[in-house]
Amino acid sequence: MDLRLAGAIAVVTGGSSGIGLATAKLLVAEGARVAICGRDPDRLISAAEHLSTGTADNLLVERCDVLNASAVNGFAKKVLSWSNGRLDLLVNNAGQGRISTFSDTSDDQWREELELKFFSQINPIRSFRPLLEVSDHAAIVSVNALFSVEPEPEMVCTSAARAGVQNLMKSLATEFAPRIRVNSVLLGTIFTEQRRRRFEAQANTGQTIDEWINSQARNKNIPLGRFGNPDEVARAIAFLASPAASYITGASLEISGGTSRHI
Ligand code: NDP
Repeated sequence: MDLRLAGAIAVVTGGSSGIGLATAKLLVAEGARVAICGRDPDRLISAAEHLSTGTADNLLVERCDVLNASAVNGFAKKVLSWSNGRLDLLVNNAGQGRISTFSDTSDDQWREELELKFFSQINPIRSFRPLLEVSDHAAIVSVNALFSVEPEPEMVCTSAARAGVQNLMKSLATEFAPRIRVNSVLLGTIFTEQRRRRFEAQANTGQTIDEWINSQARNKNIPLGRFGNPDEVARAIAFLASPAASYITGASLEISGGTSRHI
């Protein structure tokens, strides 16, 4: 199947690592011109090396915190002049989860988490919407989690915030139709730097990383018996963002190795 992404202009927030980086790489391979952002300059430099195809013009790398509305506006202005005023796909991926229960989450942590989950979507959507409106194949993909529909008490504020974001995406799919399609991917457990950090934080278990992954996959009862990898998510994002998914909006695609239990 031809995803018809050749020549498309894409923005991937949090494109310097994990799922965002894998998505940017796949979009470049499909012939898209891709702009990524993240906060850490070293990570951005190494992502640029990883994504480089030797054609300077097909990649834009920008340091930008998606929670800083004026920085996101500045990023959008750079994309505007780099792309001649058009954007076809926006992948809102930047972020991370917070492990905490209701008992150990302070008010400030609640506010931080709600701000991260909502404004990592709201700021880029506000800033890039005028460019998306110019495209005849505009799409937004929100990277979300299965926790949004199957809450995890050990990640209480992440789960609650992600549920709100799912609700928001459903409204936007209606408000932005027919110009911009809006879809979500709901992730289970994907092995990325975020997961590596969690393994390192629990390093006193005496397990190797492979043993830890296998035991986590068993504990979580993942039917496919393993964590997902970023490329497996990237393929779903690229499809939903592409003209090949032209009649899909307001949808959520689970990428969880079969973990979900709801019908
Ligand atoms: P990584 O930590 O590997 O990548 C996260 C990316 O987001 C990095 O590029 C990071 O760069 C960037 N980022 C984080 N905060 C900001 C910010 N405020 N502004 C700009 N960039 C930011 O994690 P994953 O690839 O695992 O996660 C990608 C998304 O998927 C996240 O939203 C995550 O919560 C979600 N997710 C992941 C799951 C998993 O199992 N891996 C499960 C469910 C959801 P930098 O830190 O330099 O800014």
